[in-house]
Amino acid sequence: MYDLAFRNARVVDGTGNPWFWGDVGVEDGRIARIGDLSGAAARRTVDAGGMVLAPGFIDLHTHADFTLPVFPRAEAMVRQGVTTQLVGNCGFSPFPVFRERLELLRAYAAFVDVGLSWEWEDAAGYADHLERLPLACNVALQVGHGTVRVAVMGFEDRAPSPSELDAMRSHVARALEQGSFGLSSGLIYVPGSYANTEELVALAEVARRYGAFYSSHIRGEGDSLMNAVGEALEIGRRAGVPVQLSHHKAMGRQNWGRVGASLEMIERARGSGQDVLADQYPYTAGSTTLAAIMPKWAMQGGVETMLSRLADPNQRARIRAEIASPGPEALLSGAREFDPEAIMISRVPDGPSKGYEGRMLTEIAADRGEDPVDTALHLLESERGGVQMIIFAMSEEDVRRVMRHPAVAIASDGWTLSPSAGGKPHPRSYGTFARVLGRYVREDGVLGLEEAVRKMTSLPAQRLRCYDLGLIRPGCVADLVVFDPERISDLATFQDPHRYCAGVACVIVDGQVVIENEVDTGARAGRILRRGAT
Ligand SMILES: [Zn+2]
Repeated sequence: MYDLAFRNARVVDGTGNPWFWGDVGVEDGRIARIGDLSGAAARRTVDAGGMVLAPGFIDLHTHADFTLPVFPRAEAMVRQGVTTQLVGNCGFSPFPVFRERLELLRAYAAFVDVGLSWEWEDAAGYADHLERLPLACNVALQVGHGTVRVAVMGFEDRAPSPSELDAMRSHVARALEQGSFGLSSGLIYVPGSYANTEELVALAEVARRYGAFYSSHIRGEGDSLMNAVGEALEIGRRAGVPVQLSHHKAMGRQNWGRVGASLEMIERARGSGQDVLADQYPYTAGSTTLAAIMPKWAMQGGVETMLSRLADPNQRARIRAEIASPGPEALLSGAREFDPEAIMISRVPDGPSKGYEGRMLTEIAADRGEDPVDTALHLLESERGGVQMIIFAMSEEDVRRVMRHPAVAIASDGWTLSPSAGGKPHPRSYGTFARVLGRYVREDGVLGLEEAVRKMTSLPAQRLRCYDLGLIRPGCVADLVVFDPERISDLATFQDPHRYCAGVACVIVDGQVVIENEVDTGARAGRILRRGAT
């Protein structure tokens, strides 16, 4: 007797092989049998009615560690078929928490933090906290280099002393011992950007000892893209760890097309025996903290110090000038071209500028009768740095080229939001997987269905070294999704982002039904995955 049986399904098994007609039986949270189950009994049967049955999607890049404590159901993701998400990306993790530097940590994470209690200290404490919540999907942790650096050094723009480096190593080791899957870095954000390559190699070497990987929001995705990819590859090579290049893209019109060369670098590295993969979200706009426009030096010491610099007329003038026209050196070290036409304000904490959510920076500036740089600085001041922006800076052709590359996984870079979160967040949280399957597979034929599913399932599972996830095979974990390939679509837009996708009928996590007929069943099926445990 099976716990659950799927009949009449087009099985897309996650390998990339062509789909086949098959029934699937689930027992004790695992896939027990694939084939003709017409004679077998099951406690519960789902008639897929010719729809696709695929492994649940594994999202290798989210920042949900900052939203799950408040929105544990992660509906935006789970309704698309996401059954596991890897958090702790871009150098941000909610641990280690060092009490004396909690205020610095809060400021560091202000743009993703929706109100965490910060009552834990380490990965284990955070995982315990999450496990008490009604999670719908699985969570895999990473430890963020930026958070570790804040804990040990605050916002100091210098290399660590030997004892500080030791302290950082032991924080990383502890998080990995406690089951984290990787070490992430975010080298455009302070204090991550203050780290040199040596420091990152030293920490990535700790990851090697635990069989973990190094993921990176690299030092620049615009003019400095090639150097930044080169640095990530060097870190992986020297430390002997697999590399995950996060949200791969080329930003800024002058850099469009350069993903051809960056993908070639990935291929050459793979050809020489280095395990490197990338991931991507299917949009031509990104989203990050508005503070990313600030010159690096102006962020030294943390947000409060940055605010006091803005209050000083001389320093403000210098900041203003450097944002308006960063020199070539600044651009090569990762600064962005400031293009106010490309920036939309997406989320503001409950402060005086709340009404600016969803509006372009140039429009706000016109209303206020000032230059967009001044508007941006005003927003950072009035909201104490906690402003999120969306930047329209990539080309559609690049998005498609990166998507077609076999070593690129689909990942959202989202948060697990619910409509009650408010704001105008990037629609990728609600739409990434459905958009790839609807727009890029069905409508535009950029990818075949099986290849798209592979990039959402077995490929990310391989990065996690979770070989019993991401495949429909006997013995694998029963994380599954049923969707209608003719109907699946993302509905979330930049102006109306809190819209669930259409066409996902049923989502199973660990053998339990969490979405049925497009509705959340409330099943507490999510677990915290631990490296080496599956
Ligand atoms: Zn990032």
